Amino acid sequence: MSIFFENDPTLQSYWRSIILYGRNVASYKFALGKALIDLNKKPNDLIKLEDLSEPFSNHLCEHLKQNDKQITSSNSKFLNSLKKFNQGEIKLEERNEITKKLGFVNVIDAFHEVNGKTIPKKFFIDERKDSGGIRLTNHFYDLFELQESENFLNEVEARWRLVETAWKLGVAVKLVQVEHDSVGEQFFINTKLGRINVTSSKNALNGYQKSKCFFCFDYISIVKRSLKLCNVDHFFPDTLKSKDFPGYVDGIWNLVLACKECNRGEGGKFAKVPSLKLLERLHKRNEYFCSSHHPLRETIMSQTGQNKEQRTKFLQKCYDSAKKKLIHNWDVEPKGTSTF
Ligand SMILES: [Zn+2]
Repeated sequence: MSIFFENDPTLQSYWRSIILYGRNVASYKFALGKALIDLNKKPNDLIKLEDLSEPFSNHLCEHLKQNDKQITSSNSKFLNSLKKFNQGEIKLEERNEITKKLGFVNVIDAFHEVNGKTIPKKFFIDERKDSGGIRLTNHFYDLFELQESENFLNEVEARWRLVETAWKLGVAVKLVQVEHDSVGEQFFINTKLGRINVTSSKNALNGYQKSKCFFCFDYISIVKRSLKLCNVDHFFPDTLKSKDFPGYVDGIWNLVLACKECNRGEGGKFAKVPSLKLLERLHKRNEYFCSSHHPLRETIMSQTGQNKEQRTKFLQKCYDSAKKKLIHNWDVEPKGTSTF
């Protein structure tokens, strides 16, 4: 996991490691992440708990409506209060007051912790004892100056949806496959009770590629109507589907986000085989998923191998097969610096 930011120690890598790699026992970190994104527009850097309570619990209430399970343990006085609010049993002021008292007990301390270590740059300082709130740092404001911060809200939401879906499934998470609906660009799962849409595929994939085209590292966006809006692309071309190819072409392991140029521009990839250098990059990207905790990891492992060695062999086998069938290699000049 730490390789995710060690090679690229930027504010955006730290932010994404908080969102994508925490070992969560509750979804509070996502709610705080979304609340912080909301608060970016406020002029004051000191955020009192009473002001944080409302956006924080709004996000949790929204998710509770969709998904009852927001923690790994069975009961929580705080979440029960939010459910009461959703059912109209308590008023907004009361909910916010309860949130202020109970909602932040662990999440403020834990926000910058990623798998047992504190990340080197903090986005807020805990001033609950002295000033009754948290103080946003320059790192926070610098982060939201970046163009790619436009994607953060969607990325947090996607990760949240994946985590809560894993909790909902419980141990069955190991048995389900997350499938891709290429028309609706949705990740979904089929259960006994029918299809469950989990999240937008672009939103779920983007964080692991750090908002860069998989092939050329040009900036990509996942915000609708953006000029830089990316495409979901098959690394090994989908023409291989009918050609006795050893891998599941529509599997998540083979899906990457690409800029319009690489996807369907003049020098685009089309039905060519990406170079070995790009194959190594795919392996690395898939390993980012395998070191995270959610149903995409289980799906990728079941499709490509249970350990790193098997997964390396699998990709090589796919490459050899694709090369035999499609012959031509494809590569592209990088447009940005390598970040993953
Ligand atoms: Zn590109």
